[in-house]
Amino acid sequence: LRVEDKLYQNRYVVDSGRPHIKVRPHKWPSANLFALTSVCPAKCYELNDNGQVEITADGCMECGTCRILCEASGEIEWNYPRGGYGVLFKFG
Ligand code: SF4
Repeated sequence: LRVEDKLYQNRYVVDSGRPHIKVRPHKWPSANLFALTSVCPAKCYELNDNGQVEITADGCMECGTCRILCEASGEIEWNYPRGGYGVLFKFG
C-alpha cells in the first residue's frame, strides 16, 4: 500500500469556524513561513494572490512541522483541535 493510500483512510472532523491554527497577518512571509507552503504534508498552507501565506487547517495531521518552524516567532498560533475534532488516524 502506498503512503497516499494509507493517508486516505484517515478521517477529519472539521470544527467549523474554529480553526486550530491561525497565521498572523503579514505583508510578506518570512522564509520559514513561506516554507510551510511546501513542507506541510497535508498541503494546508498556500500563497494567496497578494503573496501572503494562508492556511486552511482542514486536513491537518497535527505533525507539528509548522509549529516547530513558526510558532516561537509568533507567525502562527497553534493549538490542538478541541476534543472530538481534527484528524482521526486509522492504524493497521
Ligand atoms: Fe501541516 Fe503539520 Fe502544520 Fe498540520 S501540523 S498544518 S499537517 S505542517
